[in-house]
Amino acid sequence: MISDNFDELVKTTIATLQRVADKFSPAVFASSLAAEDQVLTDMILRNKLQHKLSIFTLETGRLHAETLAVLDRIKETYDYEVTSYRPQPEAVEAYVKQNGLNAFYESVDMRKECCRIRKVEPLNRALKGNRSWVTGQRRAQSTTRAALDVQEQDEAHDMIKFNPLADWSEEDVWHYIHSNNVPYNVLHDRGFPSIGCEPCTRAIQAGEDVRAGRWWWENPESKECGLHVVDGKLIRIKPVATNA
Ligand code: SF4
Repeated sequence: MISDNFDELVKTTIATLQRVADKFSPAVFASSLAAEDQVLTDMILRNKLQHKLSIFTLETGRLHAETLAVLDRIKETYDYEVTSYRPQPEAVEAYVKQNGLNAFYESVDMRKECCRIRKVEPLNRALKGNRSWVTGQRRAQSTTRAALDVQEQDEAHDMIKFNPLADWSEEDVWHYIHSNNVPYNVLHDRGFPSIGCEPCTRAIQAGEDVRAGRWWWENPESKECGLHVVDGKLIRIKPVATNA
């Protein structure tokens, strides 16, 4: 459902991004190029916040062509080049040589190791030297995100993390996209509400959970890519005062 206070929600979200740029920079926005991330990209670039709040993506080497095409759409629409962070080639080569290209289907550990090489290490590199970071995560997306706050202390990276869309519904996201002509990944129109790497994402059926197509062979509780996991355990992220 579109929130009754949608216009207020938009204003609050832009204000959060403005506050990040003004008080918590240098800051970066980690975009997975999904619908939520496109909302934030639009807000950052329309409000010219990119000099203090730049946008990057993790180009894992296993993304769909349709996802990579979003980078071109952003360039065409906003004349902005999203920075791509890629995995270290030697780490990918060693994993593939030792385990095979698609070993992530074999066990949760193998999957987490692939995510560590292709996502976690590049993410750590992208976050280095910044004071805060922003994600497009929403509370309603999955069981692992139910406790998400707009502003949190990210213990794993020892920095402040903002989730400006924490309160948004899926309908809010699409209402914003259509009202503002925001470019988005065409896979969303083909049954992919949540999009990750190609071999680890499938289309879902009507009525399935929005993240059911991600790592669908695993349990719902373990479906995070390890970006907020340290030593195999989910890191508890503590909320902090929002007027800091
Ligand atoms: S989502 Fe799949 S292919 Fe992508 S890094 Fe994780 S395990 Fe590897």
